[in-house]
Amino acid sequence: MRLPSVLLALVVAGCAGAQASSTPAAARDAIPALDSAKLLGDLFRLSHDSMAGRAAMTPENAKARAYLVSEMRRLGLAPVGASFEQPFAMPRRNRPDSVRGVNVVAQVRGTRFPERAIVVSAHFDHVAPRNGNIYNGADDNASGTAALLQLAAHFQRHKPEHTLIFAFFDAEEMGLLGARAFVANPPVPLAQIAANVNMDMVARGDNGTLWAVGTNPHPVMKPIVEALVPASGVTVKMGYDTGTGRDNWTSLSDQGAFHAQGIPFVYFGVEDHADYHEPTDDPEKVNAGWYYNAARTIAAFVTRLDVAVAGWPPR
Ligand SMILES: [Zn+2]
Repeated sequence: MRLPSVLLALVVAGCAGAQASSTPAAARDAIPALDSAKLLGDLFRLSHDSMAGRAAMTPENAKARAYLVSEMRRLGLAPVGASFEQPFAMPRRNRPDSVRGVNVVAQVRGTRFPERAIVVSAHFDHVAPRNGNIYNGADDNASGTAALLQLAAHFQRHKPEHTLIFAFFDAEEMGLLGARAFVANPPVPLAQIAANVNMDMVARGDNGTLWAVGTNPHPVMKPIVEALVPASGVTVKMGYDTGTGRDNWTSLSDQGAFHAQGIPFVYFGVEDHADYHEPTDDPEKVNAGWYYNAARTIAAFVTRLDVAVAGWPPR
C-alpha cells in the first residue's frame, strides 16, 4: 500500500525528531489502537456477578487478582521486586481492625531512563454485596482496571523511555488503602517516581466528558493535557481539583496517596452518575465506543507524559 503524502510527511518529521527523543514524533502524536474486544471483555469479566463486587478480603477479590496476575504473566511484564503480588496490612480510618489487601504491581522498563518511573494505576476492588444485591462496579472500577490491562499490553509492545509501573490497587473503597500502602512501602524509592496517572470510572461517558484532574495543584501537567488530542467523541476537560468537598477530586481516589507525597498526578474519570455506588453499576450501561476512545486517549496521554518527564528536574 502506498503511503499517503501526509503520512509520509509525518514519517519524515518523525525521523528528524529522533535526535531529541528516541520516540518518533509521529508515534508520539498518534492515538494508540488498543484491543477493543479485550478491553470490553475484561470489563464484563471483572464486573460479572461471579466476582460479587470484588471487595477487599473476599474470595472474589482474590479471583479478580489472580486474573490480573495471569495477564501480567501472559503479557510478559516483569514484577517490581520478587512478586507481582504485594500484600499489605493497613488500619482503617476510625476502625480498630486492619485491612489485609494485595496490590498487583508490574513494570515495563524504560529504554532511556529506566531509573525514573511513572506509576499508572487503577483500583480493582469495589464493595461487598448488601441486602442480597451485588454491586458489580462496572464503571467503578472494572473500567479503569480493564483499561490498565490494555495500557500494559500497549506499552509492552511500544516501549516507554521511562519505566512504567502498572499498579492495580486493592482496598481503594476502604480509604485508598492499597495506594497508601504502596507509597508507605514503595517498591522503588519515592524520589524515583516522577508522576502518577490514575484511572477510576472511565467508561460512562454519558456526557462525552473525560475529566483530567490535577493540573491546578500540579501545573507541570497542564501543558501535557492541553497538547493532548483526544480520540473521537471524547472531550477532555481540566478541573475538579480546587475547592472543597465532592467538587474537589484530588484525594477521592488513589492519586490522593501520591499527591500527599508531592508527586504530580493526573486523575482521569467521569462525573458521578445515577448508578454510582449502586447495584446498577452494570457492564450493560457502558458506552463501549466511548470507553474504548477514552482508554486510547489516556494511553496517548501516558505517551506524551513519558516524553515530557525527560525535561523535568529530579524531585
Ligand atoms: Zn472507584
